[in-house]
Order: sequence, then structure tokens, then C-alpha cells
Amino acid sequence: MTKQEEKNLRESIARVRERAAEAAVRAGRRPEEITLVAASKMNCAERVRFAVENGITVCGENRVQELLEKYEQSAYGDADLQFIGTLQTNKVKYLIGKVSLIQSVGSQRLAQAIDREAGKQGIRQPVLLEINIGREVAKSGFLPENLWEFFENVVDFRNLEVRGLMAIPPAVSADGNNLYYFHEMHQLFIDISTKKYDNVSMACLSMGMTNDFEDAIACGSTMIRVGTAIFGARSAPHGKA
Ligand SMILES: *Cc1c(COP(=O)(O)O)cnc(C)c1O
Repeated sequence: MTKQEEKNLRESIARVRERAAEAAVRAGRRPEEITLVAASKMNCAERVRFAVENGITVCGENRVQELLEKYEQSAYGDADLQFIGTLQTNKVKYLIGKVSLIQSVGSQRLAQAIDREAGKQGIRQPVLLEINIGREVAKSGFLPENLWEFFENVVDFRNLEVRGLMAIPPAVSADGNNLYYFHEMHQLFIDISTKKYDNVSMACLSMGMTNDFEDAIACGSTMIRVGTAIFGARSAPHGKA
């Protein structure tokens, strides 16, 4: 990395934190209530490592292969490592023991696979349930009305710890269009919180990315996943993954 790249990255991290803190205060919330996850896909180990050395405490990766490569290259240092992408059941075994949170559990089948693998390794794996809040055909995730069935069976998943919900609303161009989905997610989060299920603690509501994290914070997000605003546009390759 050049000195200029280092300076840019350091400033971007500070700027995102500042914007998130301001959004929290505007919403009458405390800045510490919001966790910033740096979505580091397509950024090389060197850039990720620099980010971790300069204020990033949580990294989120999208692809198992990419995560494993950067893991081997000690990209994540002392940061918490989380998985935020689409996960195939046959790849679960590579993540257990490495990630502190799997944010993208969008089906009963995937939950089962994680439960089984965590059991084998003798650990309890924290997860979030991914909600297909925009009801998009091409997207994975639970439909809100199917969540209740999942919760009825959740006691069977002894090696899972459901910590909350995650959503990626439909991509929108205009500012503010996602407010509707963010509100819906927050309501769902509250509804589930009022029920008491075993293995479930509704502590985390993960929503908000570069284009909409301030709106998400206004609607109760406790975790934002930000890539572009930290690392820059991904079309320009910032090192190979
Ligand atoms: C890439 C990614 C993000 C971050 O997206 P940006 O718009 O670059 O901030 C957040 N969440 C998930 C699941 C992602 O894949």
C-alpha cells in the first residue's frame, strides 16, 4: 500500500465511524450501541490487516475460500471475524472455530448443518437469521411468516445460539426507499424479543450498508456492514483476494 492509500483508508474508517455515531445521536441512541463490521470482500490481506491495525474491530467476509486465504495470511489480526455471505452446507465445516458469528443463516437446512458441525467440534456457534425482507425470489433467507416454525424447533439446535436477525433489503437507487424494510425488520426483531425461546437472545439487528447505514441506524440497527465507504469501490481491484 502506498502512503496515500494508507491515509485514505484511515480517514475512511474515521469518517464512517463519525457518520454512524451522528446517526445514532440523531436517533436518540448511544454510538456504542452500533457495531461496525468492515465488509472486506475483494480486498487483499494487506489492506484488511491495515484496516484492523487502524480501528476496525470486526471483519465480515462473503466467500469461504476468500476468508480461508486471508485467514492464512493473518489478515484479521485481533479483529472478530464473521461470515456474512451465502453459505453452502458443505462449506460449513471450514468456518466453525474460525468465525465468531455466521450472519447469514437463511434456512432450516443450513441451521441444521451448522448445528451438526458445531456439535462435532464441541462448540456453540452464534448465528443470525437472515430474513428475505423484500420477498425477492432470487434471494435466500427466511420469509418473515416462516420464522415462527423455525423458532418452534430451535430447542433442537443445541449447538446454535441465535443472536438476532440480519437483512439485505432490495437494492435501491433513491435515498430513503429502504426505510420501509428497515422498519419492518425492527418490528420483527421486537416481536421475537418479546417471546422467550431457548438458544435465542435477540441482541443483534444487522442491517445497513454503505448507501443506507444511517437510515438503518435510525430504524434500530445495532450492526452495520460497510464495504465501499471504508475500502472504496470494488470494481477497481484492491489486490487479489
Ligand atoms: C458487500 C456486502 C456489504 C457491504 O456493501 P457496501 O455497499 O459495499 O457497503 C454488506 N453486507 C453484505 C452481506 C455484503 O456482501
